[in-house]
Amino acid sequence: MSNPSNKNIPRIIGKYTSNNKGPLLFVTAGIHGNEPSGVKALEEVFKQLEKTKPIIEGTIVGVSGNHKALNLNKRYIDEDLNRVWTKENIEQKKSITHEQKEMWQIIEILNQFPEKDFTKRYFLDCHTTSSASLPYVSVQEVNDNDMWAHNFPTYIVRGFSDIITGDIDHYLSRIGMTGFVFEAGQHEDKTSVENHEGVIWLALKEACKLDISKIQTYPECVTRFTEKNAPAQKTFELVHRQGLKDSDVFEMQPGYENFQKIKKGELLAKHNGKEVKSQWEGRIFMPLYQAQGNDGFFVIQEVESR
Ligand SMILES: [Zn+2]
Repeated sequence: MSNPSNKNIPRIIGKYTSNNKGPLLFVTAGIHGNEPSGVKALEEVFKQLEKTKPIIEGTIVGVSGNHKALNLNKRYIDEDLNRVWTKENIEQKKSITHEQKEMWQIIEILNQFPEKDFTKRYFLDCHTTSSASLPYVSVQEVNDNDMWAHNFPTYIVRGFSDIITGDIDHYLSRIGMTGFVFEAGQHEDKTSVENHEGVIWLALKEACKLDISKIQTYPECVTRFTEKNAPAQKTFELVHRQGLKDSDVFEMQPGYENFQKIKKGELLAKHNGKEVKSQWEGRIFMPLYQAQGNDGFFVIQEVESR
């Protein structure tokens, strides 16, 4: 779908500071070019910050991810920008595919905000999903990411980010930053923009000590996310991955939504003609309804937060 407002999105969407000592909040949006929701949310946040000029500690920077793909409204050009941040690509300074080049451009921007200039460096990577979903945080269990994630009033999924390789949150965690991925909802859903905006304001409050009541659009700018769109905070852990080989025939039972509750013995899918029944009391996570993919579905279970 074309969206003319997506044209000419700059690499740095905005930067705001009151020149006080404090942390860096590095927000990336549109790492997948067909996910402009986080970009729109950042534009609104910087517009409001410039309007009211509140005092904050540290600096917030908003960066567009796959710049060319975003401006073309495509998911990516040569390959998935959220799979190129591998140790190997970084060590070998690979810069062949379009996405490898964009990766280095984003690293260059981050290098303008070095660790020594800040009390701490946080990241927030904004995404959306192809099918309808409640918003959720996907947190990799390294550094103090999990503790930081529990400052946010939404579903928190542990363990999913850990099994992916080459995503930007792995790289940022690897270099010592603290943060998570936020999936705000479906790509074109306007509540996704509301949720992204809400989570960015809350991150500014938690990291940069922003008094959000100073913002003119408060309380709507956060309550749409915290009260209207997102369910109360719950923590989930991944307990099963239904992995697929390219030659497998997989058919998910129709009608499953992300986070839908499942019971033991429930028919979930057919995998190479065999029935797959739930061995768990839990919830379905990321059911596959597209033709392609290497994951049929995941199962998550609610756990106590630490
Ligand atoms: Zn994405």
